Amino acid sequence: MGEEAPEFRVESITLESKDCQQNAIDIGDKTYVIGRIDDDSKSTFGIKILDKLTQTWVEPTVLGAQPPSKLHSASLVNDEKILVVEKGVSLNDSIWFLEIDTPFVKQQRKIKGSEVVSWSKGVLGVAQKPVVISGPSGVGKGTLIAKLMKEYPLKFGFSVSHTTRSPRVKEIDGVHYHFTGRSKMEQDISEGEFLEFAHVHGNLYGTSIEAVESVTDKGKRCILDIDVQGARSVRASSLEAIFIFVCPPSFEELEKRLRARGTETEEQIQKRLKNARAELDQSNSPGLFDHILVNDDLEACHDNLKVVTQLTGYISFP
Ligand code: ADP
Ligand code: 5GP
Repeated sequence: MGEEAPEFRVESITLESKDCQQNAIDIGDKTYVIGRIDDDSKSTFGIKILDKLTQTWVEPTVLGAQPPSKLHSASLVNDEKILVVEKGVSLNDSIWFLEIDTPFVKQQRKIKGSEVVSWSKGVLGVAQKPVVISGPSGVGKGTLIAKLMKEYPLKFGFSVSHTTRSPRVKEIDGVHYHFTGRSKMEQDISEGEFLEFAHVHGNLYGTSIEAVESVTDKGKRCILDIDVQGARSVRASSLEAIFIFVCPPSFEELEKRLRARGTETEEQIQKRLKNARAELDQSNSPGLFDHILVNDDLEACHDNLKVVTQLTGYISFP
């Protein structure tokens, strides 16, 4: 329960004083008050929600990357989000959304059992769709993604999946994957924390809603490296993405790359090669993948990846 609310009703007002600026936005039975709070060392955004039915104030859990808190104006976009525009910063840094009832916020509210809001950064221009990349193990998905992110570090962010498999020598927890135990992951899946999950090569892999949110919160375009089952689940979800399948030039070359990588045992290689045949068959499923790229010459495939993700406008041929 929050504290007792004063008896007043607000539509949308801005209150300004030397140390504080507040916007109040009315949505249904709630009023969201977004306020800049100054103390000696820094400014922060405070958020309070007035429940007009019970006349109580609630301080929600605030998720996402916090905007820098300068003077701002707030206006309602729809029942799901409030647009907050910062003043006195570059145009690129000025647009933020306070998510108040998006699917992510609804889900987090259910998990936490209390009021939740979440900040996400707005992007100027046409919003670019997340990119889902699938393909058999060893085809070069990780290599292509690393190359794209190196070339466009500010544009793309990687969705860090969860997995129950053990880390490889150079893999870092929280960077390449969130390495986790099976029972913990199953519990989190049952609590609705995952956008998709699949059993792949004998382990459990999945994309948490938070993994995608943490990229989009920074105003970046999300890249997902997931298997064909995962791609199918994302296709069926509300996430509108570009779906790309990466093929090897031949099955022999795929086997060669998988062996040369040297990260799997012979038994695991056999399992991955067997699954590769099934994945290659499924790449032609109607309506699943928007683009099929052959990763023969790495530079050419990288160029083509940039074309299908609308970064450049011409196609390379070998
Ligand atoms: P995936 O992420 O699809 O499992 P990786 O990115 O780990 O595959 O690539 C598997 C191996 O193939 C790595 O050793 C990588 O350096 C190599 N590789 C990737 N693309 C190419 C290519 N176009 N030509 C030759 N080797 C490649
Ligand atoms: P690896 O063990 O080689 O990192 O990945 C094995 C397979 O799991 C790859 O095909 C990769 O695309 C897939 N994968 C990785 N993360 C996810 C995920 O979050 N969801 C699904 N469905 N597949 C994933």
